[in-house]
Amino acid sequence: PVRVRFCPSPTGNPHVGLVRTALFNWAFARHHGGTLVFRIEDTDAARNSEESYRQLLDSMRWLGLDWDEGPEVGGPHGPYRQSERMDVYTDVAARLEEAGHAYRCYCTTEELDARREAARAAGRPSGYDGQCRDLTAEQRAAYEAEGRSAIVRFRMPDETITFTDLVRGELTFTPENVPDYGIVRANGAPLYTLVNPVDDALMEITHVLRGEDLLSSTPRQIALYRALAEIGVGAGTVPEFGHLPYVMGEGNKKLSKRDPQSSLNLYRERGFLPAGLLNYLSLLGWSLAEDRDIFTLDEMVEAFEIGAVNANPARFDLKKCEAINATHLREMPVAEFVAACEPWLREPYATWRPEAFDRAAFEELAPLAQTRLTVLSEITQNVDFLFLDEPVLDEASWKKAMKPGAEEMLRTARAKLAEADWNADALKGAVLAAGEEHGLKLGKAQAPVRVAVTGRTVGLPLFESLEVLGRERTLARVDAALK
Ligand code: GLU
Repeated sequence: PVRVRFCPSPTGNPHVGLVRTALFNWAFARHHGGTLVFRIEDTDAARNSEESYRQLLDSMRWLGLDWDEGPEVGGPHGPYRQSERMDVYTDVAARLEEAGHAYRCYCTTEELDARREAARAAGRPSGYDGQCRDLTAEQRAAYEAEGRSAIVRFRMPDETITFTDLVRGELTFTPENVPDYGIVRANGAPLYTLVNPVDDALMEITHVLRGEDLLSSTPRQIALYRALAEIGVGAGTVPEFGHLPYVMGEGNKKLSKRDPQSSLNLYRERGFLPAGLLNYLSLLGWSLAEDRDIFTLDEMVEAFEIGAVNANPARFDLKKCEAINATHLREMPVAEFVAACEPWLREPYATWRPEAFDRAAFEELAPLAQTRLTVLSEITQNVDFLFLDEPVLDEASWKKAMKPGAEEMLRTARAKLAEADWNADALKGAVLAAGEEHGLKLGKAQAPVRVAVTGRTVGLPLFESLEVLGRERTLARVDAALK
């Protein structure tokens, strides 16, 4: 059975690269009817926070990426927060040492640096040189008598490691490129290099799908898995690995946590739909079919193959992300769209007063709004004209629309609107006819009407909006603008 894991460290706000990794693991698990383990890698107390932990859980819930084992859900391999598993790691480290797979290393940072420099200068590999690999009991005692502290270092076997990456195919690492590495700090704190594979082994993970930035740790981990199997920790098998492509941001640099557009919170605050955002993120390395950018999560799950993931870096494109979200908004059932907008319309925002909201009136306009929004946060500015007693007059819009002659145009339109039947077609006819009298095409002719009635130069289709607003309120607003 497939068992995958999503195992972030709770440091800061979740970012889109992390969400992409979660999504691919989730889709892989769901496609294969497997298990998604959610594990929190919070052994580094200095960098992790309870707040980030809460945010991670909250983000996964918001996205709708559910997990089968992990925090709040439990499961047979818990606890799922590494900070609650410290005894396990201490025990495993001791057993590795006992079996000769790890050893105490007394080298100081200065010594390591100096030897690394020398190796570089001589053109030799600059990783750990094995100085403490085979210390005798006397040598160890001498170091300890000097008052040196020791880290625990894993002993890499002297052999080439080859594995078939599910995304990249066969990869080979020769021993000189994979030196012995630290697994426990001098103060006894276990490192990521130990706890991550130990938990993968104990949690019986079958497939490790993660970012390409972790590729260099894979040969080390494979060696560690083998050692763990030998000493009887975990299921005794080495998982398969698939390394997901880098996500590139502006200027073809790796999208970093510092890029504002990488923060998941930004997408939540702007009112992206989880379905739209996840649809876009899935395209960072994968596609459902050629010429098919829009799909649901269910469709993704149905079709997801890790072998179809592209190894080349993917470019993060906010414009495309927005366009995909807009399509999801447009294609939602209206009732769902109304429900999705409602929380936004019930929150005060700049010029918006939620007390004015009237759900029945909004339902009339919703189908129009649905065609115009990119993100849900745009809803208030598109529909506030309908609810507020007076439109929010946007000054720049007013200046732009009320050019010389606009007032005359508006007067003519007022007269024609007053006589028109109150439906969108007739209202359009009225403004068209008024425009003709002033030698103006529809676009120019309707601009002052739009600003007078909605306060803005852009918004929902105008005549449908006027129809919903009603004759009395429309004419009163035009009159107010003409004063
Ligand atoms: N906690 C690690 C990270 O967030 C997990 C890496 C992995 O998937 O193995 O980078």
